[in-house]
Amino acid sequence: GTNLKEEIVHVKQILDAAQIEVSIDGDLKLIQTPSFVENVLSMCLKEAVTNVVKHSKATVCHITICQSPDELLIRVQDDGIGMRYPISEAEGHGLSGMRERLEFVNGSLDFKIEQGTTLNIRVPNVIQ
Ligand code: ATP
Ligand code: MG
Repeated sequence: GTNLKEEIVHVKQILDAAQIEVSIDGDLKLIQTPSFVENVLSMCLKEAVTNVVKHSKATVCHITICQSPDELLIRVQDDGIGMRYPISEAEGHGLSGMRERLEFVNGSLDFKIEQGTTLNIRVPNVIQ
């Protein structure tokens, strides 16, 4: 599996190559996150960024990592054309695959379509 820090380096390269400006905010060092959860997060981040490159026509992509005592959030925001309603997850396997894997770690996926697409990838973050 890949850790999140390595995946961030990788997606940054993908966005650079696609000439999409990228900003990365937040704490990249995960606190007490099990490696299987980190693997799921890395996979989701990769798919989210692949979708930005493939579908969004964005010029900018913001990636934010927020850790609170009870939640770990990765937000991938683009300024592109936005997903069309109704959101057809039947077109591909990316979004449904993300959702399936997130359910497996009690996480969730939601998106907001407003001046582009914002994808929120969440998992519970239980710090002892
Ligand atoms: P796959 O992921 O299986 O290679 P896919 O990318 O088409 O195929 P999904 O990742 O499930 O499938 O995405 C479903 C659809 O949602 C896409 O086909 C695209 O129309 C739309 N979409 C996803 N992300 C974005 C985005 N960031 N901006 C605009 N449209 C998007
Ligand atoms: Mg996809």
